[in-house]
Amino acid sequence: MRVALVTGGSGGIGSAVCRELAEQGFALLIHYIGDPSPADQLVTELRAAGTVADTYMADVSQEAQVEAMFAEIMSDKGRIDVVVNNAGITRDGLVLRMKLEDWQKVLDVNLTGAFLVSRSAAKVMLKQRSGKIINVSSVVGIGGNAGQANYAASKAGLIGFTKSLAKELAARGVTCNAVAPGFIETAMTAVLPEEVRQTFLSRIPLGRPGLPEDVAKAIGFLASPKADYITGQVLRIDGGMSI
Ligand code: NAD
Repeated sequence: MRVALVTGGSGGIGSAVCRELAEQGFALLIHYIGDPSPADQLVTELRAAGTVADTYMADVSQEAQVEAMFAEIMSDKGRIDVVVNNAGITRDGLVLRMKLEDWQKVLDVNLTGAFLVSRSAAKVMLKQRSGKIINVSSVVGIGGNAGQANYAASKAGLIGFTKSLAKELAARGVTCNAVAPGFIETAMTAVLPEEVRQTFLSRIPLGRPGLPEDVAKAIGFLASPKADYITGQVLRIDGGMSI
């Protein structure tokens, strides 16, 4: 059985990714932090549909916690085929007023977290001579965004990380790609002021905000054998916002 780990798997985009990968027949490892109930509910839903699903808790920015999670995964499942580095946070503010703590926290979770999870996963995937790592970046990692320098830096960093890791792992058949979602309706964007939301919407040629399922379908493709010959790429899922 193919096994997929989705970090932040009970969040808006994360839960849609879990459902998409479950449809492809993957056993789902749903990683969460904090309140376990959304992840537990998702496990109940997926198991009811016949999917093998379990939860794993870790702060992805903490090396020891990530390593302990992988030790548990390997003892439970013995393999890992797909990793989706989806866990992410924002601490928005203009650079001149940004606290070092807010800069650091966003980089720790969004970028260092993906590094730690990928490092543990890659060790297993290299031995298996197969595997796919998919990093959830953002269009702001490509184009920047006023008020989100920390977040944009973390997401831009993920793109450089993705391309470098793709080069390091390719010889053993392991791929690494990134997706760059635009404006997607989740808890993360629900907190934006209405005028910011309208500005984003006015820039989307397809005329609607993205749904978590729009991102999940693209990640599902990158996780599938259909994407075996694709590595080091960044796929924008933004309704044409960056055309
Ligand atoms: P969300 O808040 O619903 O999900 C984020 C998840 O990350 C949550 O499950 C949260 O528990 C987890 N998380 C946060 N800190 C963590 C930590 N220290 N350790 C482990 N897990 C942690 O938001 P979402 O919109 O579903 O975001 C998912 C990903 O998509 C994020 O990486 C986000 O940056 C990215 N993204 C979102 C949008 C959008 O418009 N919503 C656009 C581009 C990229």
